[in-house]
Amino acid sequence: MKRAIFPGSFDPFTKGHFSIVMRALPLFDHIVIAIGQNSEKSSMTPVEERIAGLERLFEKESKISVLKYSGLTMDFCKAQNAQFIIRGLRNAQDFNYEQSIAQTNLKLGAVETIFLSAEPHLSHLSSTIARDIAKYGGDIRTFLPDFNE
Ligand code: ADP
Repeated sequence: MKRAIFPGSFDPFTKGHFSIVMRALPLFDHIVIAIGQNSEKSSMTPVEERIAGLERLFEKESKISVLKYSGLTMDFCKAQNAQFIIRGLRNAQDFNYEQSIAQTNLKLGAVETIFLSAEPHLSHLSSTIARDIAKYGGDIRTFLPDFNE
């Protein structure tokens, strides 16, 4: 059974994240969308609300579950019996950031990271920019999957 964790802050969960989940789905038997709680202080939406929204979004998809976690992602993988981590790559900056984390998770946790390149029309989307726009009253619906509309 191939189990994967898709870890992130997902604050908010964007069309870019949605695309990664849907493209990863055929590759695995089960995907856990895992909301990391390490930087909760500056979050826009409380983690329980994020979980509820994602459970609604994926309610018809039995291969997906949504959980929160804190601590090391590799430890959470072990607890969840997951052999894989899914991450999305938008650009070289993402790659530079992700590569050493993936190498560390492989060496210390024996967890393999599978990277999926962003779809070109979604590679500009970032939760950070969405949060900034929302903070100043802008409309971010175009960034988000349908459940937020
Ligand atoms: P983190 O804070 O862990 O980077 P994010 O919620 O920002 O969490 O992102 C989770 C994952 O989704 C990361 O691998 C990130 O690169 C990827 N991601 C974010 N936005 C996009 C996008 N527009 N297209 C593809 N992947 C994305």
